[in-house]
Amino acid sequence: MNNRQYISISICFLIIISLTIYFFVTPVLTNAKSVTIVLDAGHGGSDPGARGPGGLKESAVNLSVVLKLKQLLEKAGARVYLTRSGNYYVSLKQRAAIANKVGATRYISIHHNSASSSLVNGTETFISRRASRTAYDLAYKVQKSLVGVLKKTNRGVKRAGFYVITYSRMPAILIEPSFISNPAQAAQLRSPAYQAREAAAIFAGLRDHMRLSRSYDKLGIEGSSLESTSLYFPHVIDKKSVWRSYISLTSSQQCEATLNFYNSSGNLINQSLRAVEANKRYTYYPKDLIGRDFDGSVVITSTKPLVGNLRLSNRNCLGTMTSQVPSSSISFAHVVDIKRKHTSIVSINNTGDTDTLTTIKLYKNNGVLVKEKTISLSPHRRYSFYPRKLSGKNFDGNIIIQANTSSITGYLGQYNINRKGFGMIGNPSSANDVYFPNVSDGRVWNSFVSIRNQSNALNPISIDFYNNANTLIISKQKSIPVNGAYSFYPRRLTKLSFDGFIVVRGNDLISACMGQTYAKKSSLGLVEAGTSSNQLNFTDLRDGAGWIGLTSIINTDTTAVSIDNSFYNSDGSLFKNYSYNLAPLLRYGISPFANFGSSFSGSAKITNPNSAILGTYSQSN
Ligand SMILES: [Zn+2]
Repeated sequence: MNNRQYISISICFLIIISLTIYFFVTPVLTNAKSVTIVLDAGHGGSDPGARGPGGLKESAVNLSVVLKLKQLLEKAGARVYLTRSGNYYVSLKQRAAIANKVGATRYISIHHNSASSSLVNGTETFISRRASRTAYDLAYKVQKSLVGVLKKTNRGVKRAGFYVITYSRMPAILIEPSFISNPAQAAQLRSPAYQAREAAAIFAGLRDHMRLSRSYDKLGIEGSSLESTSLYFPHVIDKKSVWRSYISLTSSQQCEATLNFYNSSGNLINQSLRAVEANKRYTYYPKDLIGRDFDGSVVITSTKPLVGNLRLSNRNCLGTMTSQVPSSSISFAHVVDIKRKHTSIVSINNTGDTDTLTTIKLYKNNGVLVKEKTISLSPHRRYSFYPRKLSGKNFDGNIIIQANTSSITGYLGQYNINRKGFGMIGNPSSANDVYFPNVSDGRVWNSFVSIRNQSNALNPISIDFYNNANTLIISKQKSIPVNGAYSFYPRRLTKLSFDGFIVVRGNDLISACMGQTYAKKSSLGLVEAGTSSNQLNFTDLRDGAGWIGLTSIINTDTTAVSIDNSFYNSDGSLFKNYSYNLAPLLRYGISPFANFGSSFSGSAKITNPNSAILGTYSQSN
């Protein structure tokens, strides 16, 4: 094998690995509590089922896989019933009756295949002859997942008259992941690790399938946080009966942090000194610290660099954003404030020690000025406005805020229709090239991307759409006028539902943001476009126990980079550390629960030596 062959094979291998990983991390999880799954371990007792080499019994392997799958499902919040939990005989009629009696949502029967020729191998999944579309969807997704993980011959989804899938009244499948009669597969089937892979693959397929019935009423998306000895949160509300907010922080070094709480007039109303242990993740609810409702801004200073983010939620909504860096200019590429539809609120905060003169400009997307207002902000004073009220009419455009000091931070909070979803972002960085690592726009999710021209001349941009296999699907060109912005639904430009990442390259500076909603408009996540870095920090990751947390990373360089990942539990102990090589313009996703099989709450630090990565984190219920 020459070197060149080796490289292309390695790249193929990387792509396959990445696809497999991405398959696992489709942001879905079985909906807690309302899901009841019956797991049926085929055969048992006097009926051992098929026999493998060395007397391996199918009934025993079936039960091992079922017990592992049960654990995964229960961790994800599903209620699980078994048709048998040991090595004893249960009739087919009894098995279906158990499922009907408990009112199961889904029925999954696990078997292992046998053929007269020991050469036969592969994976197949059965549904009944009169199976519903839902049963087919379940079978299809589980089969796809098993084939992706086990890499056996895909024998497909088939219809058959097996008793248990015919007479159980809910969507039901019978799976034959591997052939026990094939000596190589039988050897694998003896290993608990392989049994666990089968269980994890079935779980991932089921999770993918169950998203059809999820509500996704909460969604938060954020970029990675910057390490700094000063963290700024321009707009924090913590009122027990309405909005609850908490700030999370972590540091890779032991240090002392000072939390400063300012009311919206700029008065310091509380100061709290906290010891911070290395890699431990801390969360603070302002109301709990201060002892009364809080509506203002928070500044955290520290003796060593920290990272931090903010969560804001009420009964229906979740918003997330990272800590901010003061600047002389804040831009929001897309702000909508339309009566009885969308509501937006913008806040600016002067983090400096002197007064600052700040000019707020509201523009239409074609660059026409709608409203201009100049205000003076005293130190730590917060100014909030509704664009519709400021301009005196419905507003759908972009905003730029410029100050005569480099001390302002900004915040945009936005409700979607009927206030069912809420998203928030801070000031996006301006750059020529910006990236959205995880964009989904189709049947389940809708995304909306907005790009603002940050230069003083007409700014030609190209928008490149990449799918998860590193393939450039389409490239669109556009020119944005001065103070204008361009917004689009990816699916309208790609003419297909889109799932991948987007690279926007401007001739000059641009800033950008993305809104994502569940297709039923029950949630909204807002995120700023990212730029490349050598370090990504996610302060508050939650995956499992009712949450789906997904980090998405892309390599923006032209060569492969070595990426080091450290996930820390909230108590500071290491959850997982591993490295991998990521090919250029390829996306890599990690969902700790789906990838490692246990619930996770903590932080992540992802580094590479080339300053070539960027990432986002999304969380939904
Ligand atoms: Zn069987």
